[in-house]
Amino acid sequence: MAGAGEETGGGKAGEGKGVLLVTGGSRGIGAAVCRQAAEAGWDVAVGYAGRREAAEAVAREVEAAGRRSLAVAADVGDAAAVARLFEQTEAALGPVAALVNSAGLTGLSKPFVDSDPEEMRRVIEVNTAGTLYCCREAARRMARSRGGAGGVIVNLSSAAATLGSPGEFVWYAASKGGVDSLTIGLAKELGPEGIRVNAVSPGLIETDIHASAGDAGRLQRFTPQVPLGRSGTAEETAAPIVWLLSEGASYVSGAILRVGGGR
Ligand code: NAP
Repeated sequence: MAGAGEETGGGKAGEGKGVLLVTGGSRGIGAAVCRQAAEAGWDVAVGYAGRREAAEAVAREVEAAGRRSLAVAADVGDAAAVARLFEQTEAALGPVAALVNSAGLTGLSKPFVDSDPEEMRRVIEVNTAGTLYCCREAARRMARSRGGAGGVIVNLSSAAATLGSPGEFVWYAASKGGVDSLTIGLAKELGPEGIRVNAVSPGLIETDIHASAGDAGRLQRFTPQVPLGRSGTAEETAAPIVWLLSEGASYVSGAILRVGGGR
């Protein structure tokens, strides 16, 4: 598997659904989306921040499913890097027909009175501004009025957007409230351009994000609040995302789909 900017070849170019770019594709929910999307016939660009080996392993899995793939490093909080992410993806795989914005972080869990302004700024920069930057690059390419062929975008919001994450990371919840708002607005603005825009709001999902927040016991602690009585998996979260990308969801736009076991 080659790194940024290098196409690895292989797969069934041109026979599938087109090119999907997944930010945060190296781990967790994004990695599960890459795998399931490949099975569904998408060629997949696997975006990542720093974990190149993990991203390249996911890209190899995409190729093993018979699709083309590419691992591309880009900090989604940097608008210029996001532009390069799209350029490298297109140069290697062709026009981007679909985008899943899964890159995200919470910052360290702590009471709001102890919060760190720089950490808050970074979470909003990556989660909210980063999603806007990626949607912007996608829309500029997909918009029919600019010669594009339309497309589909799925943003990762969070149940936190409506629960608020008190005592943990209210700034993260706020960053995802922004994702809900931009999803609604872009669905309306980009619908006439042939672009569907939806969000998925996961609840408690078994990924690295909880340990990264400094709270590895978080899933166990909150599980009693989940009506289905358990946490969810990345695969269970990826399935509705890949469905939203599909023709089966051709009239679904502006939706914010909760995937939270009833919580
Ligand atoms: P994760 O396992 O911690 O993975 C995070 C992913 O985001 C990694 O691929 C990471 O890349 C990438 N990333 C982080 N910062 C980035 C940046 N600045 N630029 C580009 N990529 C960056 O997270 P996850 O649980 O799968 O979460 C995926 C999305 O779902 C996030 O938006 C998260 O907020 C949302 N979500 C998750 C849960 C949950 O319970 N897990 C619940 C609600 C919402 P590297 O591997 O290179 O570090």
